[in-house]
Amino acid sequence: MGYDYVIVGGGPAGCVLAGRLSEDPTIKVLLLEAGGGDWNPLFKMPAGFAKMTKGVASWGWSTVPQKHLDGRVIWYTQAKIIGGGSTINAQLYTRGNARDYDAWVTEAGCPGWSYREVLPYFKRSEDNQRLVNAYHSYGGPLGVSYPVNPVPISFAFVRAAQEAGIPFNDDFNGAVQDGIGHYQLTTRDAIRSSASSAFLKPARGRRNLTVRTGAQALKVAVENGRAVGVSVAGPAGRIETIRAEREVIVSCGAIGSPRLLQLSGIGPADALRKAGVAVVHDLASVGGNLQDHLDLYVIAECTGDHTYDRVARLHRTIWAGMQYLLFKTGPVTSTLFETGGFWYADPNARSPDIQFHLGLGTGIEAGVAQMRNPGVTLNSAFLRPRSRGTVRLASADPAAAPLIDPNYWADPYDRQCALKGLRLAREIMRQPALKPFVLAERLPGVGLESDQELAQYAYRSCKTDHHPVGTCAMGSGPDAATTPDLRLRGLEALRVVDASVMPFVPSCNTNAPTIMVAEKAADMILGRPPLAAAPI
Ligand SMILES: Cc1cc2nc3c(=O)[nH]c(=O)nc-3n(C[C@H](O)[C@H](O)[C@H](O)COP(=O)(O)OP(=O)(O)OC[C@H]3O[C@@H](n4cnc5c(N)ncnc54)[C@H](O)[C@@H]3O)c2cc1C
Repeated sequence: MGYDYVIVGGGPAGCVLAGRLSEDPTIKVLLLEAGGGDWNPLFKMPAGFAKMTKGVASWGWSTVPQKHLDGRVIWYTQAKIIGGGSTINAQLYTRGNARDYDAWVTEAGCPGWSYREVLPYFKRSEDNQRLVNAYHSYGGPLGVSYPVNPVPISFAFVRAAQEAGIPFNDDFNGAVQDGIGHYQLTTRDAIRSSASSAFLKPARGRRNLTVRTGAQALKVAVENGRAVGVSVAGPAGRIETIRAEREVIVSCGAIGSPRLLQLSGIGPADALRKAGVAVVHDLASVGGNLQDHLDLYVIAECTGDHTYDRVARLHRTIWAGMQYLLFKTGPVTSTLFETGGFWYADPNARSPDIQFHLGLGTGIEAGVAQMRNPGVTLNSAFLRPRSRGTVRLASADPAAAPLIDPNYWADPYDRQCALKGLRLAREIMRQPALKPFVLAERLPGVGLESDQELAQYAYRSCKTDHHPVGTCAMGSGPDAATTPDLRLRGLEALRVVDASVMPFVPSCNTNAPTIMVAEKAADMILGRPPLAAAPI
């Protein structure tokens, strides 16, 4: 069977595209995903997130030693499963700030991507359980809801942040992003709403859509300046070439897309030669401009069982499972990070530049310390880093891990703002509203006060917030990897559609922005006019 479009990568972007493009029964679509299916109930349960950064359904990569973090190597979870990051993420549904998207137009030269123009695409996806107004909608494929039963410590945290001077906000995705509150989540009826369940599952029965899991693309095949297909390794290691009549669409994520392109000989010629790959198309910007959010955190010991730390004990796990199965309540309905908000490290920042995530326990994510007694974690991420990194190949072997270098804190401004964010997090945790819940700060630890001491702590403990973007950034200049309609510059019939095309990382978690990018891309690919700009 021939295909019109071959989509490589079944993450959020790939699932949205597969669902939208196959709505037209005359178009034949193939979706290739290197990872497996998402049948395991763990991927449906919101609290399944507790397992997700520890190697489950992931490529198993780490960063290269981080020069500005005292040589630290950071574990770098990237999803390898249908639904990609949306199947393993913490399910926070955030869109960032209107000015993030306006900057894509004014600073990166991407007409059509202003906030007023992308808002209708956020809304098209959305099935919001509670909100319908200028910013929100219902009836779309993606379930969006508020936490089912937030625990008392999360309300105390919201009050504490207000005591620290941060206003309450019930909708970070509405008119104002600033403030503290409970997040919206990509869950529906206490079940994860991944891009796979939201966009792909309803389309699975279509005769014009083929989905292949366990199928890693090894190369994009290029003939006479045109992408004509991809070569794929099937489960038994057999290699085949699949042709695309209209386009190859690369949706392998901000690490996977520049990796696949470079394996195909598309990227900076010198870096390709160094890795032993024959140059097909010299494009310097592929794999550059990597941006990510770095998390620092405070861990406090609680005065009692106020978080989910003790649920890990067997009898409680069984009870939590029963509560979930019978009543859809209890700990399993929690994504474990469902409270937080946005505030300022730099008082002159154009919009919030710090994001908080309250973790209802300790050791929830890989590498984060687990306390012996029940505890609570408060993550703080600086949202608009000036540092830029790279994704390069270690070798021409498609099985080799890529060289991921986010180059965190290369710009001293990032370090300065991150440390301010950490201080803000500490300040919130010390407010009166949290006194009945919090016994004492354990990390960084009361003795550490100077910037130097906090930076040393950060070197030891920091982690990725899992928001890489920018490695095939769109723009109108000759230096951009992709054009504003997401075509790879200089080759025909090849587009990149995923988080890698974002020129700047949005000031938020990146799943909803990626889904928006793919929604808009689907209209571009199908030649439909863009949705009318929002009247806000
Ligand atoms: C642990 C974690 C927690 C996160 N938490 C949140 C959150 O709470 N909220 C939020 O908004 N965002 C969160 N994110 C970020 C969000 O999930 C990502 O921004 C989003 O998944 C990016 O989507 P994507 O389509 O660009 O790429 P990905 O999600 O990376 O998907 C790419 C897919 O392509 C596949 N692939 C790669 N290479 C190949 C190949 N050669 N052949 C075939 N298939 C290939 C991969 O296996 C993967 O499934 C989190 C991410 C992670 C990893």
